[in-house]
Amino acid sequence: MKIGKYSLGIGDRFGHQGEAQLRAIIKAAAAGVDIVPVWNKSNREHSYIHSKPTDTRIEADAAVKALSYSGDYYVDADHINLSNVSGFIAASDFFTLDVASKIGTASDDEQIAAFVASSRKYSGILNIPGIPHPFEVSELLLVSIAGKFLAAIAEAGHIYNFIKGQKGADNFVTEVSMDEVETPQTPVELFFILKMIAEQGIPVQTIAPKFTGRFNKGVDYVGDVAQFSREFEEDVLVIDYAVKEFGLPEILKLSVHSGSDKFSIYPAIASIINKYDKGIHVKTAGTTWLEEVIGLALAGGEALALAKQIYKSALDRQEELCAPYADVIDIKQDELPSATEVDQWSSEKFANTLRHIPGHADYNPNFRQLIHVGYKIAAEQGVKYTDLLTEHHLLVGSCVEENLYERHLKRLFGLNL
Ligand SMILES: [Zn+2]
Repeated sequence: MKIGKYSLGIGDRFGHQGEAQLRAIIKAAAAGVDIVPVWNKSNREHSYIHSKPTDTRIEADAAVKALSYSGDYYVDADHINLSNVSGFIAASDFFTLDVASKIGTASDDEQIAAFVASSRKYSGILNIPGIPHPFEVSELLLVSIAGKFLAAIAEAGHIYNFIKGQKGADNFVTEVSMDEVETPQTPVELFFILKMIAEQGIPVQTIAPKFTGRFNKGVDYVGDVAQFSREFEEDVLVIDYAVKEFGLPEILKLSVHSGSDKFSIYPAIASIINKYDKGIHVKTAGTTWLEEVIGLALAGGEALALAKQIYKSALDRQEELCAPYADVIDIKQDELPSATEVDQWSSEKFANTLRHIPGHADYNPNFRQLIHVGYKIAAEQGVKYTDLLTEHHLLVGSCVEENLYERHLKRLFGLNL
């Protein structure tokens, strides 16, 4: 299986917005850009929602059927490892091997020495075609890169081989992810990581490094956009060179685990992939759930009351809800509206505060991030929440579609802005 040039990791915590998201993809195709939808859901999400990987497959298949969509699509076992991959085997045909937690795990001296020896042809001054400045690769740097990443990539090899044994090599797409760490991988590290991946025999099609800057959940990028662009461009060129040097799949492309809504770096991504005519995979899972809350707020009545209830409970249970996301949220306490304040809000005020329109007077990223991590509260509401989604599916679906098309796809793929 070979994934198309442009692909989008779409997400749907409660499994109700498959069609709405696919409508945005179909709209982009009509505008001239073919994007492969990849339904992704991590083990963590499944455990909070009490859903199963097969539910994601059912949702994707149903949406594809309902809209008579004839393009490729995938179901991603997102951020899996050896301990939880087996539950995803049957339903998924895209696997994101998450080896971030193994970065820095010690490898034995012999393996390190072997890697350094086989990398010697790249030591000294390393020129990557297209990158104007050479990289200095010392023996010490090679030892340090091997020490940091060999064990992690060996782990990716174990996971890949397990999946291959279960599904057969040609029946799935492989991504390797290392994004959930604090320290970004440099372009030169990425080059040697790709060498290790090739040596493990992993036919990687998408690779998700940690990029520079903060990728907080559901809000815009925080960091130096110019530096991001520089590194992103170098990563693209590193991949190009690594594909040729190490015999990796030609399709290999960067995967940006965006945490959603990284609007300020979308134009940089768009211009660099255009410049080099490269593909891209962007995961933008979380916003769908927020659009559901926006849609419910706009519906008014009982649905607005539930949207407010979700916020108020999230406010009470902040510590618990934020803990698993500590590294990817920045909530300013004194900018969170109080429960009594929110109680007074109209549908529009609530929706405008939550909806991500940078520069809108009501938009509050702190409010947005807190609701973002509060999906557990909606999950606890069970059918009360999902029945309201069903009741207001037209309104909610239009919010989901508009968000994905207008705010994401248009910016990412330069569609008639
Ligand atoms: Zn990720």
